[in-house]
Amino acid sequence: MNISDDRISQAESLRVRVIGAGPTGSVLALSLANKGAEVYLYEKNPIANIKSRNRAYAITHSSRRLFQDVGIWDELEKHLQSFSILRIQDKEIHKQIDITLDDLCSNNRSYNSVGWILEHRILMDILMDKVLTNKNISLFEDNAPHANDSTFNLTIAADGGNSSSRHIWRSKSLGFSYKQGCLTSKVLIRGANPSTAYEIFSSEGPLAILPMGGEVFQVVWSAPLIKCYQREGLTESEFLDRLSSVLPCGLQPDVLLDQPKAFQIRFGISSLPKRSRSILVGEAFHRCHPVGGQGLNLCWRDIATLSKLINNIIKGNLNINNVPIQFLATRFIDILFINFFTDVIIRVFSNRNPFLLFYRRLSFVILKRFLPIRRLLISMMTDGF
Ligand SMILES: Cc1cc2nc3c(=O)[nH]c(=O)nc-3n(C[C@H](O)[C@H](O)[C@H](O)COP(=O)(O)OP(=O)(O)OC[C@H]3O[C@@H](n4cnc5c(N)ncnc54)[C@H](O)[C@@H]3O)c2cc1C
Repeated sequence: MNISDDRISQAESLRVRVIGAGPTGSVLALSLANKGAEVYLYEKNPIANIKSRNRAYAITHSSRRLFQDVGIWDELEKHLQSFSILRIQDKEIHKQIDITLDDLCSNNRSYNSVGWILEHRILMDILMDKVLTNKNISLFEDNAPHANDSTFNLTIAADGGNSSSRHIWRSKSLGFSYKQGCLTSKVLIRGANPSTAYEIFSSEGPLAILPMGGEVFQVVWSAPLIKCYQREGLTESEFLDRLSSVLPCGLQPDVLLDQPKAFQIRFGISSLPKRSRSILVGEAFHRCHPVGGQGLNLCWRDIATLSKLINNIIKGNLNINNVPIQFLATRFIDILFINFFTDVIIRVFSNRNPFLLFYRRLSFVILKRFLPIRRLLISMMTDGF
């Protein structure tokens, strides 16, 4: 095959190098391999290590559609904890609103879930089983070679927030670190509804309580970074006491089920790499605040877009040299909207500024009274643009 050809005929196979086998890179590898591409997947850390991260993800309907397309939804679904209510509370102005199935479009409503919660380990176990048995994927547990290798038609970096590809390919990045950090932990909470996810706003930052089955919940607790690190070091009873003071009335944290882990939150959007046929995806491309559980869903929407573009290449409708710019053009608005929307939410809702309290009250009134606005907002967050 002459790799320098711009058009890849259906008979020939597309050779793609994917850097990073995290949640973005491994779903990408499967998606491309299913379309018939030959995928060379590089992961610098041992697979056992990347599987063992202690996290849980909120899954939206856009991710559900991608998993259906990749053929892993039926298997994943058995392990998902569905929630049918998203309860948003503002502790400073004592307002609350429930997002329910009625707020979804009819296609999404038929799944009886506003969203789902999934443990990282389960996701990665399923993904890695599929990756290792897919004949179109070769997995290398090694640092990806960065040299421009003309035997590949496309190189896609899914190497995470600290992406080295981004630097090597001289992609410019607009970004900053939030003063807020985030602390995640699994906690047994009494009195919480197992089919409700909670997002609670206070002056410190948002707190998400995500159902994981029975009385077990994943806590995603944003606060000034220094406080997050201090809380990481608290004893179990001190931690539960502190958590109890920010939980809504009636919810009582009882047992800490794992070691709380704090991490820094960054905002970031990168430009096109200055190297042809090279693309950044997932957190290598963009990072946002975890409020609303948008980050990883946004990464997976990158994959859905790339997958469509690869289809067009295979059908002969798209020149491979145009893939990076087409990808950026298609993803730009969704990424910009989610990054700036989450940023505004944090700035407006993480304080007690009396001027902003007025707008916070107003936003609850608008969301409660105007169903079309509420539906539009939910659709943008769960389906993307
Ligand atoms: C401590 C912590 C806790 C979190 N908890 C949550 C949570 O509870 N819920 C939630 O929704 N999100 C959470 N997040 C965010 C979430 O983990 C990210 O959104 C998600 O991991 C992004 O996926 P990714 O595949 O794009 O990047 P990553 O998961 O970072 O994967 C990138 C992969 O690329 C590999 N790699 C890097 N460089 C190279 C190279 N040169 N060659 C080969 N491989 C390379 C890395 O080893 C890594 O496996 C958390 C993040 C952190 C840091």
